[in-house]
Amino acid sequence: MSSSFLLSPLAWTWQTAQTVGRGLLDLMYPPRCLGCGARPESAGLPLCPRCLQRMERAPRMAIAARLDRLPAGRGLFDETTTLWVFDKDGTLQAVQHAFKYGNRPQYGVALGRLLGKAYAEKASGPDGVVPIPLHRTRKLERGYNQSRMLGKGVAEVLDCPLRSDLLSRPHPTRSQTNLSREERWKNVHGAFAADAGCANGHWLIVDDVLTTGSTVVAAAQTLSEAGADTLSLATLALARQ
Ligand SMILES: [Zn+2]
Repeated sequence: MSSSFLLSPLAWTWQTAQTVGRGLLDLMYPPRCLGCGARPESAGLPLCPRCLQRMERAPRMAIAARLDRLPAGRGLFDETTTLWVFDKDGTLQAVQHAFKYGNRPQYGVALGRLLGKAYAEKASGPDGVVPIPLHRTRKLERGYNQSRMLGKGVAEVLDCPLRSDLLSRPHPTRSQTNLSREERWKNVHGAFAADAGCANGHWLIVDDVLTTGSTVVAAAQTLSEAGADTLSLATLALARQ
């Protein structure tokens, strides 16, 4: 069932009006680079090539080291990829804010293509890309799932299907912000449900920012318990700690 079907006619009309209005504004005033204010040259990206170059890349093994700190995260993923280090109040936070809350889903797809390219340099293609789902109420608030938009870009580059049907989030969870590692794990553990169709496959889980890894580990465990063969992980960024 599409999200627009779940919305009331009034909410749907408002969202459509926002999207159309945004499109018209973009035509008149093309979006500026969120890092320096210059006109971005790459289509759909919220950053100009210079600001993209200046973003701090996450060290190669950093994401695996972070996951190792969660007992349930050790050895869960075959391959892990992340692009940048995420700093509070940094350029990437402005970008994330725009595509998560600012009704700019197209930024997610464009950034997802970059993430897909980085993954493809390291590993062979999975059977499908599985974005971290949002609980229904959160999705209604935002209008779309930012991880699904990233996943769309990743799947496009890897030439494999986007399988947002394989994982759902039937139980609402509170925001992970300001929670300790233990609290985060308790908060998301058991929040997900997997579709039986995930059995025997290699699935690439995609999310925006990895902090402790609790969310992606809880999601991966759910897929693994439902019979998934191999799991890999690609996140746009790793939060600095
Ligand atoms: Zn710039």
